[in-house]
Amino acid sequence: MSISLAARIEPGPGPAPEIASVGIVGAGQMGNGIAHVCALAGLPVTLVDIDPKALDRAMGTIGRNLERQINRRLISEEQRDEALGRITTGTDFALFADTDFVVEAATEREAVKIEVFKALCPHLKPGAMVASNTSSISITRLGAATDRPEKFIGMHFMNPVPVMKLVEIIRGIATDDPTYRAVDALAKKLGKQTATSEDFPAFIVNRMLVPMINEAVYALYESVGDIRSIDTAMKLGANHPMGPLELADFIGLDTCLSIMHVLYDGLSDSKYRPCPLLVKYVEAGWLGRKTGKGFYDYSQDPPVPTR
Ligand code: NAD
Repeated sequence: MSISLAARIEPGPGPAPEIASVGIVGAGQMGNGIAHVCALAGLPVTLVDIDPKALDRAMGTIGRNLERQINRRLISEEQRDEALGRITTGTDFALFADTDFVVEAATEREAVKIEVFKALCPHLKPGAMVASNTSSISITRLGAATDRPEKFIGMHFMNPVPVMKLVEIIRGIATDDPTYRAVDALAKKLGKQTATSEDFPAFIVNRMLVPMINEAVYALYESVGDIRSIDTAMKLGANHPMGPLELADFIGLDTCLSIMHVLYDGLSDSKYRPCPLLVKYVEAGWLGRKTGKGFYDYSQDPPVPTR
């Protein structure tokens, strides 16, 4: 007997329910990018974080990134002003009372996300759809922590959101067709292309990308090469736009480590064991660009390797 999941991941017939307003939980690297692209596409956006400073930082980043798009003649000053005017920020989930769709982009830890969904759902209107931007965690499991697993889906943006073309869409076992179609249509409205992944640990992109980064950390740990050699080798030898250690700093080393744990636990294969050196960097709080230090020290220009 052959097993095919293809029938389940095809969008069904009929128009997609419209998403006319977007809420975002988590105003970190990803949350600010998602707010940026949604606001620029004309959608009212509500951005919520537990940390008010994260909200201030996010608005600063969005302003600078919109400015960059003006300088490249991609958008006008008027579009920037309109986009900024569409974003409301706050620390209270009650702000999502009228929102059609909320995407969670909080820290990549299952316990954090489950706590978010438990606190968030009572504030949502009955038909509101919910997504997680998780890089790796089971959409089925996260959906089961909500009061609406059929309206719950994975919407995995890539970093940096305003630049990267792909959105991975992941259906949990309970996700219904209208939710899938609505989120696929939203991604396209944001100018993105979609790839649909089944709900397996780390989905498609990170199933391949993050083990490669982990292998680069092993190469450093085993002194196969130093940081610069490893990054230069993969940039010039494999034509990657960024070296794997530079990319790890860009993603966040805590996020990379969490993804390796999800792969290791979820697939029970020792090839996914996280490199002890990656663990050590995270234990040191050297999480990459977002903390100013990871495999490179960003307090200097150009950044210098930390080993
Ligand atoms: P980040 O550390 O930059 O930001 C996380 C934000 O979540 C912080 O501002 C934090 O204050 C907030 N937060 C934590 N707990 C919260 C709560 N209970 N309520 C509200 N806000 C809360 O992380 P990030 O890089 O933006 O990643 C966010 C999500 O996006 C993760 O699931 C990650 O796996 C995923 N993701 C990350 C990347 C990447 O390259 N960094 C790419 C794709 C997807």
